[in-house]
Amino acid sequence: MIPPAIARTNTADLYDAHVMKNYARAPLTLVRGQGAQVWDDAGQVYLDFTSGIAVSALGHCHPHWVAAVQRQAAQLVHVSNLFRHPLQADLARRLVGYAGPGRVFFCNSGAEANEALIKLARLHGMEKSGEEGKCYKIICAQNAFHGRTFGGMSATPQEKIQKGFRPLVAGFVFGELNNLDSFAALIDDTTAAIFVETIQGEGGINPCQPEFLSGLRRLCDQHNLLLLLDEVQCGIGRTGRFFSYEHAGITPDAIGMAKGLGGGFPIGAVWVGARFAELFHPGNHGTTFGGTPLACAAAHAVLDVLEQEKIMEQVRAQSAPWHESLRQLVVDFPRQVLAVRGQGYLVGVQVAGDPAPLLAAMRSRGLLAPSAGGNVVRLLPPLTATAEELAKSVEIFRAVLATSG
Ligand SMILES: *Cc1c(COP(=O)(O)O)cnc(C)c1O
Repeated sequence: MIPPAIARTNTADLYDAHVMKNYARAPLTLVRGQGAQVWDDAGQVYLDFTSGIAVSALGHCHPHWVAAVQRQAAQLVHVSNLFRHPLQADLARRLVGYAGPGRVFFCNSGAEANEALIKLARLHGMEKSGEEGKCYKIICAQNAFHGRTFGGMSATPQEKIQKGFRPLVAGFVFGELNNLDSFAALIDDTTAAIFVETIQGEGGINPCQPEFLSGLRRLCDQHNLLLLLDEVQCGIGRTGRFFSYEHAGITPDAIGMAKGLGGGFPIGAVWVGARFAELFHPGNHGTTFGGTPLACAAAHAVLDVLEQEKIMEQVRAQSAPWHESLRQLVVDFPRQVLAVRGQGYLVGVQVAGDPAPLLAAMRSRGLLAPSAGGNVVRLLPPLTATAEELAKSVEIFRAVLATSG
């Protein structure tokens, strides 16, 4: 066996030498996971409230997920979209069951799901105006994050993401989140769609208010615009409902999803409501890897566990006391902790100043969590996290605040 110290040095050295330097990685090499726990190459265990950025919905190596992926890997992995296979058809049926009458397109990531939404908006604009290139504007939100492709990046009005890549895709304009008038003021004859995250993730865990979402729905109905929701981070049970817009009681025209859907296996999907589901037709969109048998098996396993283990009910029940104990941090550490936002297991704790030192201190006490924009510590437990694990996260957060005041 390779001594761990040597293996560790070697991994860091190999990154330094050979891996593209486009990420600021934590100085940690992870080698194994089980449930909400991960182990590094020195045998140290951590409570993982990163969940691979809201991806590992069932935690690490859930036995039902592992069995499903192993079984499918030995049966049929990939056939392309030149053929049918039963798991893709049945996964579409299940997603339509959650979203409503409509159709599903499968892809591989959040950015790719959002590209399909942007292309759908262009097709709608062409149908609406009767001419290509006349009606194409998409109204997005300030502080949004929709991914790193040219379309997604153009919908993401953040200097750190756009700088160096201009010119961007034309036609994106930006309203202020939760300010309906600012969105209404941007609508004109060239507008095709409104596109927002139901809860902004990377931007700092900023939820759309229910009245704002129903207001956007009304504007879209009045002006024949598509209401497109990016549920890539907040969907798939993370807020205690399958889609987070369900809390507001509205129905969008199309939804982008990815992250949690495969429980760690890459898969993205777009649902389009029945009214607009025929805008895509044979030849005008596609992707080689979209909805492979293996990816669909992984997603089925996620849905099985969400349903059979009543995970969303559990998220709703356990998040109330967890949020309450997090909000107590605002009371007990008023100079360090400014606010707690979010829903279910998508939580942002806004702190005073750069959260990086806090995150490093949490890591050394055994808790992994990512940051988000606007000085936010993001907490993304797996949806299967126990009440004890949730309580433990607050205990560690509290200990770190007490020693870093
Ligand atoms: C992560 C994320 C994306 C991009 O997804 P990728 O899989 O990284 O391409 C898009 N929108 C939101 C809201 C996200 O959180």
